[in-house]
Amino acid sequence: MSDHYETLGVSRDATPEEIKKAYRKMARQLHPDVNPGPEAEERFKAVSQAYDVLSDPGKRAVYDRGGDMGPGAAGFGQGFTFTDIMDAFFGQGGADRGPRSRQRRGQDALIRVQVELSEAVFGGEREIAVDTAVGCPTCHGEGAQPGTGTRRCDVCGGRGEVHTTQRSFLGPVMTTRPCATCQGYGTVIAHPCVQCSGEGRVRSRRTLNIRVPAGVDTGTRIQLAGEGEVGAGNGPAGDLYVEIVVAPHPTFVRRGDDLHATVGLPMTAAALGTTVTLDTMDGPQELDVEPGTQSGETTTLRGLGVSHLRGGGRGDLVVHIEVQTPKNLDETQRRLLAELAAVRGEERPEGRLASHGSGLFGRLKDALSGR
Ligand SMILES: [Zn+2]
Ligand SMILES: [Zn+2]
Repeated sequence: MSDHYETLGVSRDATPEEIKKAYRKMARQLHPDVNPGPEAEERFKAVSQAYDVLSDPGKRAVYDRGGDMGPGAAGFGQGFTFTDIMDAFFGQGGADRGPRSRQRRGQDALIRVQVELSEAVFGGEREIAVDTAVGCPTCHGEGAQPGTGTRRCDVCGGRGEVHTTQRSFLGPVMTTRPCATCQGYGTVIAHPCVQCSGEGRVRSRRTLNIRVPAGVDTGTRIQLAGEGEVGAGNGPAGDLYVEIVVAPHPTFVRRGDDLHATVGLPMTAAALGTTVTLDTMDGPQELDVEPGTQSGETTTLRGLGVSHLRGGGRGDLVVHIEVQTPKNLDETQRRLLAELAAVRGEERPEGRLASHGSGLFGRLKDALSGR
């Protein structure tokens, strides 16, 4: 057997690009369509064999070590097809050559599901309705009426492609295109299944139980492998993505994994201090209000926020205090407040401007910037 490098006329350290170039040049000269005759055909075979080995890094390595890569050795011989030669000759990919399979992987499906804030906080289970393609129950994905099956395409002889030879300045050039009769499948369904029109799949609505993990937020996608669209011709199903939309809550606002809520306090309670009971996601919780609490101050209840989606633990519940100034005072209330103001020397306050970063103004800035 002759040396593959010699056959292609390249050095032993030739790059894959050089090997490809050398092969294309020789294949053009020796191709049976261009250069008929037994001698050229023999040389064309030898050149193609050499290219088959040297263009594959694995085979080339074995060959370089002196391994047997003659006809019949693993990965060579019968497996070598005309398509491979044409691909190298014309520089095309081989993926779409030959009869194509009726089987396709199904597409992924996306469905949006709205959940309550409590489900986002604690997680849960729910039933969802999914509308996807499923395997046809009549033909079990075959696409043919039961008992009829498919037959080989007469036009292309089952190859799924037809060759035509055209004249060019290089001589005759063969082109290949998918067979129009069988759409490249190589087989024809004579009696398509009535239920699925030969697609092998039908649309169907089904219900699925899904687990909503604690910590999900609007935009979180849950991937359910193999629950998407079933592919044509009994192909494997794609995945189903469930995109979460968390419904707005009347009292809690979510920021990351923290929850924020506002509690209104009468001016007197804020001044004197008190204990209030808050209706949190975890049920009633007591909140101590220090005497002299200002409007806009916050108190953090640790661990009463949303669960972290990854890793354990939970965010916090941040309670914003809103001190309510009494309105519509009756005569007694007005007198009492006036007395209090007199005792505290507050009948004519100075209207001193607050400095930046402190007091109400600083807190206002924080609130506006979302901190
Ligand atoms: Zn069917
Ligand atoms: Zn055909």
